[in-house]
Amino acid sequence: MTNEKLLSDFKDVLKKEGLKVTPQRIAVLEEIIKDKGHRESEDIYMAIKSRKTHVSRATVYRTLDILVQNGFARKLNLGDGRARYETKIDSPHHDHIICNECGKIIEFVNDEIEKMQEEIAKQHHFKLQQHIHQLFGLCKECQ
Ligand SMILES: [Zn+2]
Ligand SMILES: [Zn+2]
Repeated sequence: MTNEKLLSDFKDVLKKEGLKVTPQRIAVLEEIIKDKGHRESEDIYMAIKSRKTHVSRATVYRTLDILVQNGFARKLNLGDGRARYETKIDSPHHDHIICNECGKIIEFVNDEIEKMQEEIAKQHHFKLQQHIHQLFGLCKECQ
């Protein structure tokens, strides 16, 4: 997806939500798509602020919600009550393995697991729509 297309899609979404297109909201979009990490809203807020863009926390948080609801970003719940955000643009499905000590998050895809999940759903007469697969442990450095 080109950035221009992305930007015009985002502007459409803002209009649909009854929100103005502002440099601050566009900065949130740019920040989420340029980074391949899994960050908390506070980290994203700080990153935007460090680029000398004056933005409020409320704007960042609200815009992140809109990005998630409209398929631009993915929100991860790692069970610690702190949501992480990652881009969904040019980011195919993957699962995560998380270090309990340092919080490092590594992405993985395993075809067998994907296939098994489909089979399990089939056995129970489910049509799978999504899954969340997270592994927790200690990374190499933290063991
Ligand atoms: Zn670690
Ligand atoms: Zn990820």
